[in-house]
Amino acid sequence: MENTEKQNIDKPIYSIGSAARVLNISVHTIRKYEKAGLIIPRRFAGKNRLYSELDIERLRCIRKEISNKKYSIPAIQVILSHNPCWAVINCSDEERNKCPAYQNGDKPCWTYKHSANKCAELECYSCTVYRDFQCNKIKDNIVKYTKK
Ligand code: SF4
Repeated sequence: MENTEKQNIDKPIYSIGSAARVLNISVHTIRKYEKAGLIIPRRFAGKNRLYSELDIERLRCIRKEISNKKYSIPAIQVILSHNPCWAVINCSDEERNKCPAYQNGDKPCWTYKHSANKCAELECYSCTVYRDFQCNKIKDNIVKYTKK
């Protein structure tokens, strides 16, 4: 993807109301997904959330899984928890042993507080694990990041 294209899909341009209209869902539904950690909100000027094309794509993917496959929100949390973030971030065995996401594994890694490993200094919204691991790409990514 070209740099300008990348910047465009990343531009925060939709309010929560516009995002809901584009997706034909309610604002309440988007808030529910955020609360469950399926999407990371970006807040501007204090509290206002704005969404990019990438966020809209992510929400679209979640909607599809829920409507077509009848997955529940907890089921999608578990699916997203299968991201091999430890392989992307390359954590040591010691870090993995202390990592709540690695040890518990029923929610996406970015929903846990990380204070004792590499993730403590990283911003989840910009992290490859969050960005590349959408709900329909998990299998491909597991193969890509864990093959020897
Ligand atoms: S920085 Fe955030 S998204 Fe990336 S591996 Fe760590 S917790 Fe997960």
